[in-house]
This record gives sequence, structure tokens and C-alpha cells, in this order.
Amino acid sequence: MDNCIFCKIAAKQIPSKLIYEDEDLIAFHDINPAAPVHFLLVPKQHIETLADCQDEHAALLGKMMLLAPKLAREQGCAYVSNGSERGSGGFKTLFNTGPDGGQEVYHMHLHVIGGPHPWRGQR
Ligand code: AMP
Ligand code: ZN
Repeated sequence: MDNCIFCKIAAKQIPSKLIYEDEDLIAFHDINPAAPVHFLLVPKQHIETLADCQDEHAALLGKMMLLAPKLAREQGCAYVSNGSERGSGGFKTLFNTGPDGGQEVYHMHLHVIGGPHPWRGQR
């Protein structure tokens, strides 16, 4: 997709601080982090918003959601369960959708935001 910044990042036409890549997805640090850990999980396929996803995207969305905690762990904000009670650590996962959802880049992406109390950031 011409003029899409995340398509350009996926195609390595503009640089990013990449933390993960496979045939379907890339993940890179947000340029304007809202918390000590803030990265974006982005499908290589250009899909404008979460609301544009169809049944055919179920596996892709599942892959994104399953990858989020693994990458969060690698980035130092794992959720550590202690069995039955509230554990420690953790992170926020966020899709912004449309203008009222605060979406700025119209190439669907999942924010993963971690570090102490990331909900006290701007998002
Ligand atoms: P959203 O408001 O959900 O569309 O979020 C877009 C996010 O993309 C923001 O948090 C921006 O800081 C981030 N962003 C925009 N351009 C870049 C870039 N070139 N590299 C990394 N993150 C970016
Ligand atoms: Zn795109």
C-alpha cells in the first residue's frame, strides 16, 4: 500500500527498532513510547483497522494475541502468575480503531505497553 508508514517499515523501506519478524508479522518499538516498554505488533498484510478483519483473519489475530505475551516477556514485562492470586508484572494490550478509538496509523496494529503501571501513560 503506497504511503502507508507501517507497510514501509515491513518492507524495510524506512527503519525501525525491530524486535520480531516472521512471514506474517513484524514487531518494533513505538517511536513515541507511552511507558518503559511499548512496542507494536503489525501484520505484514495491509489491513486498515481491526473492524476490517473478517473470518479469514482469525488465525492472524490469534497469532498476534499469542505472540504479545511472549514478546512482552522478552522485553522485560512478563506477567508472572503465582497460581491462584494476583501475580506480578504484566502489560497492557491495545487496538485503537477509528478516529473515536484514537487510531492515527491506518494499518492495524496491536500496542503492547508495559513497565510499572503503564495505564498511567497517555493511552
Ligand atoms: P495508533 O494511534 O494506535 O494508530 O498508534 C500509532 C502508533 O504508531 C503511535 O503510538 C506512534 O507513536 C507510532 N508510530 C508512528 N510512526 C512510527 C514509526 N515510524 N516507528 C515506530 N512507531 C511509530
Ligand atoms: Zn500498510
